[in-house]
Amino acid sequence: MTKKGKVCEEKKCMICNKPFDYRNDMFGRGCLNNLYKQLDISVPKYTLNKEKHLINAVSHKNSKYFLNKEKKKALLKNAIALSYLNLIKLDFTEKLKKELVDNIRNISVFKPLVASMEPVYLLNSFYKVYNYYVKFDKELSEAKSELKKSTKIEDIDETKDKTILNGFSFIFNSSKELSPLHHMAFYDMQYIFWETVVVGGYLFDKPLSGYLLRLSLNNKEEYDEENPLIIEDEYYNKLLFGYDEFKRIINKYLKGKEVNVENQNVEFLEGDLLFAIHGAKLNIKGNKKENGNWDLTVEIVDKYDYTDPKEPKEYTTSFGSKSKNILASTLNNFAAVSSSYGVIRPFNYVIKVKNNDYKVKD
Ligand SMILES: [Zn+2]
Repeated sequence: MTKKGKVCEEKKCMICNKPFDYRNDMFGRGCLNNLYKQLDISVPKYTLNKEKHLINAVSHKNSKYFLNKEKKKALLKNAIALSYLNLIKLDFTEKLKKELVDNIRNISVFKPLVASMEPVYLLNSFYKVYNYYVKFDKELSEAKSELKKSTKIEDIDETKDKTILNGFSFIFNSSKELSPLHHMAFYDMQYIFWETVVVGGYLFDKPLSGYLLRLSLNNKEEYDEENPLIIEDEYYNKLLFGYDEFKRIINKYLKGKEVNVENQNVEFLEGDLLFAIHGAKLNIKGNKKENGNWDLTVEIVDKYDYTDPKEPKEYTTSFGSKSKNILASTLNNFAAVSSSYGVIRPFNYVIKVKNNDYKVKD
């Protein structure tokens, strides 16, 4: 109700979507004031209608004159959407920015205004996505400085893990009600999360896990069961034969003079191998040499796949302490969401390692 007692149609601010009871058409008072700053338009000292002033000022700023009211409003919407995208430093904005610039160029006194000249998403979506970006950016710099302090994954304590990871949980939203704009923004944020917080942070002392995760982020090839990625290099050779967990598993098969096992289920329970490999198959071929050592070829055949979220309890026995349980299970759940976004892409791979003088130690 207005003061005069006339029933007023409820208006909602196009930016924040909150209802406002004011004579403006498009924006509430608070948002209108912010827009002046955001669009770099100086606030007029004497004007009765600040909204109208903004609409006109943006047209003038773009050197568009004699536009009708509808065209001016469409121009303003494009300018606002563009100003939000300019503040969001994510890849997805590039294509959209071009579209908005084209819209601004196309709106003219000579051409009829058509729907395609308006921003393809609601201003409220641009506003929300921008606010998520600000939150993400803050979480990211906090996580980076927290992770930098620790030199080993084991040094990061449970409460800190929880705080760091919970801070990012909003980007792992797979609700179907999300606007495409949110989806694109969360996609980019998840990518940065895995690259920076996980590969460059939590997994910095877990080279195999970091390597496989990064491959899944950049993977454009279709590595399937028939055509897996073959990982066969000296670095991973040395790395695997340096892991007690790896040796513990293969030693179980080294009996007699020869070993020839294929397709054995293998679960690693510790460290890098636990994070990297899930439910793989193991092939071992080799023979015992005269000096008592083994000449071995080992293959780990796996699919890098996080499409099924794992229950936390599956990790309880895997790590000594609860904290690593939280880390592993939370990251697994995040990874399941990222798989549905297509940020993490499943791929098949085979790690082939060799050792021609492997000594079994008791
Ligand atoms: Zn508002």
